[in-house]
Amino acid sequence: MARCIGSVCRLCRRENQKLFLKGDRCYSDKCAFDRRGYPPGQHGQGRIKFSEYGLQLREKQKIKRIYGLLENQFRNLFEKADRMKGVTGSNLLSMLERRLDNVAYRSGFANSRSEARHLVRHGHFSVNGKKVNIPSFLVDKGDLLEVREKSKSVARIGGALEAVKRREIPQWLELDAAGMKSRVRDLPVRDDVTAPMTERLVIELYSK
Ligand code: SF4
Repeated sequence: MARCIGSVCRLCRRENQKLFLKGDRCYSDKCAFDRRGYPPGQHGQGRIKFSEYGLQLREKQKIKRIYGLLENQFRNLFEKADRMKGVTGSNLLSMLERRLDNVAYRSGFANSRSEARHLVRHGHFSVNGKKVNIPSFLVDKGDLLEVREKSKSVARIGGALEAVKRREIPQWLELDAAGMKSRVRDLPVRDDVTAPMTERLVIELYSK
């Protein structure tokens, strides 16, 4: 499992963007990026000039960190996106969005993608009536993600659903909060990814 040892807030500061990795804290005045919005380390407050390669690397790291993937997982997904019809960058972002851990997070069943991954691994969800505990599982159009009956009383899931009002549920998902289920209305497209990402830089990096 992709895991960051140490402060994940450093990752936001490194990428110069809020990556929303810590759930509730990201929306509070305790957010480290809001308090110290410059890169960590001794030279963090100095002027940093990136080379072309540096820009491409940072963008790849940022997207990878938002979705909580390891390098190999991210690279494999990129290669899959590259083999598909259509625009590689859009395919990549669409597949990242379709991951089960992301769908659970975007539906509001968890406060962060890492919490969603944990909940998926512990078997709290079913897809089309079957238990699925693989965070990288890709949902399809029409799939129904449900919190399993025995997990409906899990406080973390209920708490996340309460807090989801702060976030927008994307158009491609249809949430039934009372029933603790979410349907994939449509496959996500590029415009559904609202976080600032320049996937072109990732393609340039991996095409070298
Ligand atoms: Fe990033 Fe702020 Fe959330 Fe920490 S609290 S993960 S700095 S958005």
